[in-house]
Amino acid sequence: MNVNLEGMKFNHLTVIKYAGTDKFQKRLWECRCDCGATTYATTSALKNDYKKSCGCLKHTSNANDLKGQRFGMLTVMKRAGTNKHRKALWRCKCDCGRITAVSSVDLVTGNTKSCGCLGKNYAKRNLMEGGYWNG
Ligand SMILES: [Zn+2]
Ligand SMILES: [Zn+2]
Repeated sequence: MNVNLEGMKFNHLTVIKYAGTDKFQKRLWECRCDCGATTYATTSALKNDYKKSCGCLKHTSNANDLKGQRFGMLTVMKRAGTNKHRKALWRCKCDCGRITAVSSVDLVTGNTKSCGCLGKNYAKRNLMEGGYWNG
C-alpha cells in the first residue's frame, strides 16, 4: 500500500514529501500547515482526518471569531493575547460592568460565563457535552 500523498491537501495540511517511517513502520509525510508550521503525519492520520493541522487548529479555529459574541453574561470585546498555556485570551465585558480576560476554551465550553460575579448561584451545566473539542 504505497500511496503517494505528495502535493495533496488534507484540511490545513499540505503534504510536501515522504519523510520515512516512524517507529511503528508507518509511512510519515512532511506537511506544511496553513499557519506556516511544518509537521509530520502518517498516511492514515491524514486520510482519516485524525490530524488536521500542526496542532494549531484547536486554538485558532475559534480564536478569530469570538469578537462581539456573547457567552453567558460576557461580551467579547477584543483579543487580549495568550495565557501561559498558549491559549487565546479575550477581553470580555461582564453585564455587571467589570472587565475580565477569559480564554477561548473557557468561553466556548461555558466554563466561564461571567467575571466571577455569578459565583455559585449559577449552576454549572455542561451544555456543550458531546465532544465539542473533538477536532
Ligand atoms: Zn498550524
Ligand atoms: Zn460580572
